[in-house]
Amino acid sequence: MLLDNIEAAGALTLPLAQLVARLRSMSVASLDAQADAIVSLRFAEIDPATAPFLMAALQVVWTDIASRIAVSDLPYLDTPGVCPVCGSVPVASVVRVGGPFDGYRYAQCVLCATEHHVVRAKCTNCDSTKGIAYHAMRTDDADDTAQESEEEQARHAKNAPLKAESCDECGTYRKIGYQDKAYASSLTPTISPASRSTC
Ligand SMILES: [Zn+2]
Ligand SMILES: [Zn+2]
Repeated sequence: MLLDNIEAAGALTLPLAQLVARLRSMSVASLDAQADAIVSLRFAEIDPATAPFLMAALQVVWTDIASRIAVSDLPYLDTPGVCPVCGSVPVASVVRVGGPFDGYRYAQCVLCATEHHVVRAKCTNCDSTKGIAYHAMRTDDADDTAQESEEEQARHAKNAPLKAESCDECGTYRKIGYQDKAYASSLTPTISPASRSTC
């Protein structure tokens, strides 16, 4: 169905048409083997061309499964940094705005889309509260030709709707989005799954 929708969306470039044909020709066994390698993060075995399509299909299946599991049935995990439903790593985390959970930060699973609460100023990979730092890209309206002063850099970093949260303890980083800052700017408040950066 995913491939049907891609083909129905309009004319495909030759490389994409060839890729769709390759996906259609894959056996169930090879699809299963690729899916297993993707979910298990065995990067050396993953075909990078077909992986985005297989991951998209896996996300649909796992999100449906996760949506039918009662929160009360979820175990308490003593393993930091993984989804309580499926054990995958988060794609990113988002600090919410509005409602009773205003200002709370949630990590979103890369596979089943489950969001679980992780307190702020804490590494979403190893749970450390030490050595956490935030890094921001320059905003789109920043003049690339001009040298920003330290004050301007600090202001841009403070107001950025999307940052990288790094951890000195485990040496990883993950993207963190701020809905209030996304609302304040002209950017969409939704943090796109495409903004993935796992560690
Ligand atoms: Zn999950
Ligand atoms: Zn860490």
